[in-house]
Amino acid sequence: MASDPNCIFCKIIRNEIPSKKLFEDEDLIAFEDIRPAAPIHFLIVPKLHIVSLQQTDLSHQNLLGKMMVLANTLALKAGCRPGPQGGFRVVINNGEDGGQEVNHLHMHIMGGPRPWLRA
Ligand code: 5GP
Ligand code: ZN
Repeated sequence: MASDPNCIFCKIIRNEIPSKKLFEDEDLIAFEDIRPAAPIHFLIVPKLHIVSLQQTDLSHQNLLGKMMVLANTLALKAGCRPGPQGGFRVVINNGEDGGQEVNHLHMHIMGGPRPWLRA
């Protein structure tokens, strides 16, 4: 299904739940994580309701590639430091064994000077 009426991230995408948005286009949305684990912590989310990487196949490769490329652009915009002394962490949790809590595919981008709050 393209959108799930009960999914919290679909509700954010439909603006039914407020979020601090960093980016939006026809395919993707990025917003700050409500419970940050690092000084900078935001999520990149496809607008299409895909549960996790477990539900992806070759038809999603452009979308997944776009998420990866956007990660660096938005990380720099959000204040992550460039170069080898800076950088950022990218995490995708998938399924219960993967520690996924929200069942709509999303990429965590975490950065900023350490120590971090969690992770
Ligand atoms: P997961 O464990 O599924 O990879 O991560 C879900 C993330 O979504 C968590 O880091 C959590 O803080 C964040 N989150 C859950 N609900 C909301 C919400 O309503 N708004 C925002 N901005 N983030 C949320
Ligand atoms: Zn959803």
